[in-house]
This record gives sequence, structure tokens and C-alpha cells, in this order.
Amino acid sequence: MIDAQTKERLETFTKLFLEENANINLSALRTYDQCWVGNVLDSLALVDILDSLFVMKRERAVLDIGTGGGFPLFPLAIVRPDIQFVGIDAVRKKIDALERIKSKLNLTNVKLIVGRSEELAHHPELRERFDIVTARAVAPLSTLLEYSVPFAAIDGKCVFWKSMHVADEQRESVTALKALHAKLRTAHEYELPADFGKRQLLIYEKNAQTEERYPREVGLPKKKPL
Ligand code: SAM
Repeated sequence: MIDAQTKERLETFTKLFLEENANINLSALRTYDQCWVGNVLDSLALVDILDSLFVMKRERAVLDIGTGGGFPLFPLAIVRPDIQFVGIDAVRKKIDALERIKSKLNLTNVKLIVGRSEELAHHPELRERFDIVTARAVAPLSTLLEYSVPFAAIDGKCVFWKSMHVADEQRESVTALKALHAKLRTAHEYELPADFGKRQLLIYEKNAQTEERYPREVGLPKKKPL
């Protein structure tokens, strides 16, 4: 349940996002209503089940890979100020735009990093450090698993925003799941208002330490998926 003050912060974020989106191409959803449903409410699909995914007793931390215009990162961070969020993206001008929005919102539980996941996942302060790793509209599943699983702690979860039509991607991700010691835990289906329809969160669990060779060098997870 979102209280009135949090809803107001989400609305302010949406306005600030649309101002930035008018100058930099962050999202194709350009009207307030489209952005509210298709980006903000879509990002919040995780909120109801978020607590059930944490396993750690220590400080809770969520990483969003390829955060782009800040989805699902910002809506989740606004709704859950008690959790630390990190967002990464390869494109500096997108992260700069997010830094401007962050400072206008005074959002103290968000850290933003410019970089490729294939490189950042080998940094000791980021590797296997996160309870939950999220990604929306970043890559097909096998590529996405190689980007994400190395950041997750053992027993941590990777949550991917997907359409209902992922049977092929799922079939093609079997080798990646084996190599990365991960398995599908559940598919959380939800429905958005207006014409946005039915979607799902695919939730994977990491069962063992990731071998040092993953993720492979920049570009390979996309060019030659596992
Ligand atoms: N997650 C946002 C959303 O749902 O609106 C942005 C999606 S956008 C289509 C994909 C973003 O992922 C881009 O901003 C791109 O720069 C970023 N990206 C793709 N591959 C990446 C990688 N390996 N490491 C870091 N960022 C990556």
C-alpha cells in the first residue's frame, strides 16, 4: 500500500523524468499517463513480493542493471527508503540525467555508477554483494543471466521484467543457468491498467559461487550467449 506522501514523490519523479526525457532519449513513453503506467507502475510490480526475496541478515541491497532512465530503480527506491539501491548503466549521459533527478528528489538511498556490467561485476565491492539484482528491457535471458548472476550473493535473486512471450528465450537460457548455478524460482504475473496488459517478473535464484571467468569480456555475453 502506497501512502499519499510516497505517491506525491512518485508523481514528482515522473514529472522530473519527463523533463529530462524531452532533452535526452530515455524512454519512448513520453506522455505523463503512458509513463506513469508503463514505467512507474510497471517498476512497482515487484513491491508486494520484495521482502519475501531477501535472504541476508545484513544491510539489504538491490542492484539495477541497465537502469537507463531509472526503471525499475527510482520508483522502487522512492517506495522503499529503508533499502540501499545501486543503479548501473553503460551510458554516462543517462547516469548524469539520473544524478540530476536524484539530487532534486534528495534521494539518499540511491547510488549511480557508469559502466558495463561485464566489467563492474569483477569489482570486489560489487561482485556477489547484492541480495537482489533487477533488470528491465536490457537483454535476452541468457545474456541477462550472465550480466546479473555474478553480482548476486549466494541464495540471492535476479528479477527480470519480461513480456508473457519468453518461451524461446527460456529454452535458450538452459546452458547459461547451468554455467552460472542459477535456477528459475518463480514467475510472478501481473496486469497493468489501460492497454499495457499482462506481464511477468521472472525470478531466478543463485545457488553457488560464480566462477571467476563469468561474466566474460565486454560484448561476448550478447554476441555469443552461453
Ligand atoms: N531499464 C530501463 C528501462 O526499463 O526503461 C532502461 C532500458 S534500455 C532499453 C537498456 C539500458 O541498458 C540502456 O540504457 C543501456 O545503456 C543499458 N545496458 C545494456 N547493456 C548493458 C551492460 N552490459 N552494462 C550496463 N548497461 C547496459
